[in-house]
Amino acid sequence: MAGDERMKIYNTLTKKVEEFIPNEEGKVKMYTCGPTVYHYAHIGNLRTYISEDILEKGLRFIGYDVERVMNITDVGHLVGDGDSGEDKMLVASKREHKSSMEIAKYYTDCFFNDCMMLNIKKPDVVSPATANIEMYIKMIQKLLDTGYAYIAEGNVYYDTSKFPNYYELSGRNSEDLMVAVREDIEHDTAKRNPFDFGLWFTNSKFNNQELQWDSPWGRGYPGWHIECSGISIKYLGEKLDIHCGAEDAIFPHHTNEIAQSEAYLGHKWCNYWVHLGFLNDESGKMSKSKGEFLTVSLLKEKGYDPLSYRYLCLNSYYHSQLTFSYDILDGAQNAYFKLKAKVLKLEDNEVDKDKYDLYIDKFKEAIHNDLNSSNMLTLVYDVLKEDMSDGTKLAIIKEYDKVLSLDLTVKEEKNVDEDLDKEINEKILLRKKAKENKDF
Ligand code: AMP
Ligand code: ZN
Repeated sequence: MAGDERMKIYNTLTKKVEEFIPNEEGKVKMYTCGPTVYHYAHIGNLRTYISEDILEKGLRFIGYDVERVMNITDVGHLVGDGDSGEDKMLVASKREHKSSMEIAKYYTDCFFNDCMMLNIKKPDVVSPATANIEMYIKMIQKLLDTGYAYIAEGNVYYDTSKFPNYYELSGRNSEDLMVAVREDIEHDTAKRNPFDFGLWFTNSKFNNQELQWDSPWGRGYPGWHIECSGISIKYLGEKLDIHCGAEDAIFPHHTNEIAQSEAYLGHKWCNYWVHLGFLNDESGKMSKSKGEFLTVSLLKEKGYDPLSYRYLCLNSYYHSQLTFSYDILDGAQNAYFKLKAKVLKLEDNEVDKDKYDLYIDKFKEAIHNDLNSSNMLTLVYDVLKEDMSDGTKLAIIKEYDKVLSLDLTVKEEKNVDEDLDKEINEKILLRKKAKENKDF
């Protein structure tokens, strides 16, 4: 592999696999949309975080200094991803008879417990949306001053007609996008254009919203999209290299993030948009509102090692959709256990430097090749088959595991919060029973 070769990655903005060139040589500023903490994360959500984790660790492996920021959405994400329906946190408050902050704390803890079980590293900065209100107010004020935003029926909206590149990320025309926002338009008569979106809501949206702040436009709360722009710009500055999220975030969330960020900054904001493919079940996209609620804790209770699920995800291309079934998970667990058993039998003896370098280069090549995680896994098998000392194999696999994070060379079990795990499963069971008995 040539030393100056650049990593290639699929960029939604250009709709092709292209060379990754950061704004500053050697450094990557990366932002990933965090969870909405109104419920447990299902294994579909977690596939997205596993892929992002591999991207971050892969970039580090090939020598980049990565600075990564993620938000926690604890206000403003309405049930409709546009501006329709109640705030998801409010829905959870009613469901569980708790305050929004209690809900946010509990599900944030659960999320990071899941991440720990899946060996997903915590981003350098994790910031809740409610901790950055001043930043959103500053941005919204500038958007109003420069004519990109307007006030109607007490709320502040972004005027999408002022932003000519609005359709670039999705690559879809207004007729197509219209289908996605039809419900919002029917519910929100204040909007001037169909794709306009809320930057700041006052009482005209929900007067029972628990979390409200004073603003120049009245007491209220921020829209969901401004949170990610605000947090990203506040912590990573005016130029972002990579922005990630699952494919459903392309429109409206990321489309709106670009519109408001670039209008606020007055220049291009982010160069690479990396979208992760869905995890589907037999009936389509896995979502929190339907079917069995597949959490990592549930998989554990059924006897699966969470890392078998990570192994399963690693075997797929991050950009493609993946259909989950227990058969596939059984296969992954089988393969993962066999692989780990083989690695654990290796003796820690002398290392052949040339072979070591050769196989580290091959791994780097897989990362460079559009983050080819299934090739990275195949390389572990190649190393085991290759004619070299056990010590060399072990040293190589230890290095690979910095990205794979499958604990391939780790004998002891991980120290996770078993009580929280148990509590999650008991709660899911109770809720399922209550739902069956229509006792809410
Ligand atoms: P949420 O907590 O609902 O805000 O979602 C967290 C992340 O998971 C977002 O980036 C979603 O786009 C993503 N996501 C939601 N459903 C799926 C799915 N079935 N497969 C993969 N990612 C998903
Ligand atoms: Zn976001």
